[in-house]
Amino acid sequence: MGAKKVLIVEDEEDILKLLEINLRKHEYEVTGVMTGEKALEVVKNDNFDLVLLDLMLPGIDGIEVCKALKSNPLTKELPVIMLTAKGEEGDIIKGFECGADDYVTKPFSLKVLMARVKTALRRTENTAYNKDSVVSIHNLYINPKKHEVLLGGKHLRLTSAEFKVLHLLASKPGWVLTRYSIIDEIRGEDYAVTDRSVDVLMVGLRKKMEEYGHYIETVRGVGYKFKPESDETK
Ligand code: CA
Repeated sequence: MGAKKVLIVEDEEDILKLLEINLRKHEYEVTGVMTGEKALEVVKNDNFDLVLLDLMLPGIDGIEVCKALKSNPLTKELPVIMLTAKGEEGDIIKGFECGADDYVTKPFSLKVLMARVKTALRRTENTAYNKDSVVSIHNLYINPKKHEVLLGGKHLRLTSAEFKVLHLLASKPGWVLTRYSIIDEIRGEDYAVTDRSVDVLMVGLRKKMEEYGHYIETVRGVGYKFKPESDETK
């Protein structure tokens, strides 16, 4: 397997350099550009595995770049991690609406950023979410074929929708799942599926998980994610 190719789109030179150096240190092949125009040009000539995309760019902004990437059949599978300013919740939501896969807020910790990069790349390696696969993370064990959930050694009794959501979240630790993608997953269940009912479902699920309810983290205004094992030491 060759080195993974990462495209960084960032107009602040210091941040661009910092990212380039660190990604190279982790043996990624890196291309850095400072404008959205340039980004859309280089993706035509190279096969990237991931894009780190700053949202605030001069000229075409990050949202427009993301839209362009996600509407082009050649680049729509390319994972995009947005770099957003802290507290810009509106940007994060817009980013997800245009198809971004994850986000990191500035100022970011390099450790967190590298973990997100790794997760994003791992996710594309096995893109298809397998509803039947056994998931084992922290002290949680889920066996879909047996419809069995063990948490801290205890059996959890979950509704079918709760089961699906927990399995989906735990299959992609660290990955932000929008309410929309969760709704998509449980559609057809015995549920009036709305944003609100997803939140209600999460409240119920966390309650059943008792002291481990914090494994499911709320991403304000966006959705939910499952606590990755690497976060345990933080
Ligand atoms: Ca910027």
